[in-house]
Amino acid sequence: MATLLFSGGTVVTADGSYRADVRVADGRIDSISTGEIGAGGAPADERVDCTGKLLLPGGVDVHTHLDSRMMGTVTADDFGTGTRAAACGGTTTIVDFALQVAGERLGDTVTRYHERADGRAAVDYGFHIAVTDLYDGALNDLPGIVDGGVTSVKVFMAYRGSLMVDDGELFDILRTSGRLGARVCVHAENGDVIDRMAADLVAQGKVGPKYHELSRPAATEVEAVHRAIRISRMADAPIYFVHLSTADSAAAVAAARAEEWPVSAETCTHYLTLGPELYDGPGFEAAKYVLTPPLRERAHRDALWKNLRTGGLGVVSSDHCPFCFSEQKELGRDDFRKIPNGGPGVEHRMSVVYGLGVHEGKLGIERFVDVTATTPAKSFGLFPRKGTIMVGGDADLVVLDPAGSTTISARTQNQNVDYALWEGHTVPGRIERVYSRGELVAKDGAFVGRAGHGRFQARATV
Ligand SMILES: [Zn+2]
Repeated sequence: MATLLFSGGTVVTADGSYRADVRVADGRIDSISTGEIGAGGAPADERVDCTGKLLLPGGVDVHTHLDSRMMGTVTADDFGTGTRAAACGGTTTIVDFALQVAGERLGDTVTRYHERADGRAAVDYGFHIAVTDLYDGALNDLPGIVDGGVTSVKVFMAYRGSLMVDDGELFDILRTSGRLGARVCVHAENGDVIDRMAADLVAQGKVGPKYHELSRPAATEVEAVHRAIRISRMADAPIYFVHLSTADSAAAVAAARAEEWPVSAETCTHYLTLGPELYDGPGFEAAKYVLTPPLRERAHRDALWKNLRTGGLGVVSSDHCPFCFSEQKELGRDDFRKIPNGGPGVEHRMSVVYGLGVHEGKLGIERFVDVTATTPAKSFGLFPRKGTIMVGGDADLVVLDPAGSTTISARTQNQNVDYALWEGHTVPGRIERVYSRGELVAKDGAFVGRAGHGRFQARATV
């Protein structure tokens, strides 16, 4: 395998930025030289000129739903297209949700996802096991799952009758997972209250997509976050909240962390950058933004940025859960409750958070690397192989031109979906080259890697 020398760029990690040459051999970072440019010790077969560019660790996106059956349809990206899109957007590792279907043993769920990803994925991947049916003996199956490198468990506090676990089951899963060193990821919304609010709206004839937002007010998330924190205390187990969207939820997590409780959380690209005015779009357009939780007002977005800066929130994920507008979102034309919940974003997370975060002064460049790569890798047992630039780590690298720009459009994206959440936005910064274990996988937004390059990442317990 060719050796590479990334020369003349600014290396950025969560701890600092510095001029250095980075040498790559056998897919790993072999040396980092802060001396004279080009003096990086042993010669290399190929030199990548990074003058004026930032050299970042490849993104780690710990929240994607590829080839996933939900709400009467299946997400539009499989492990082939979804990981190609990830690569093009500077993300070199994903952790996807292996979603149990009712009646399925957890081991069979994981096997099924291995079969879907193996030979198709273009970048490295891992799985969380998403438990939706706590059958007799399910807890006894968890140690085997964890031994197989699937060291995190997802549960839903919403969607009764399909995905939701009750508080007792949440407690059981937390207790068992905590003992195993597996992190429990919680979708925190009060599903029962939401179901009643949604039913009331529909009974009043309010069936359009904008009512999705009204059926899931901020308090439904905040209540569930507080409750889950308390349950995790009773279970004496760490807890991680996925896709937090509100100021009060972030504050609850920050308060728990201030008590040194093992509580951590992510928000998503869209909660930082898009607002609920999108629900006022014409016709059925708003269905594109039927995400769960819904988009929130500016005060929430400001609070999420602030918590990313101060450490209340540690991770930005995409929650890439793509459904095409045509035929898929349209399943809910007559009832917003039937619109598949989710949107595309794995390709645009790095660009949007860089362009609208770092460039706008909301996030320092080191903190950008931290929330998009380092802390996700640390939180899910991938660090230091992933998530940073250090000798011995995988050569997952992104060359970003801060003077360039990126225009987002469904016409040019690699995601297999017919719209983009940031359609028409031009953001500062351009991801020029993306490397996965030393192989060039994307160049100027175009995929140049190969299906099957991506490897399953058995993750450590935490
Ligand atoms: Zn999700």
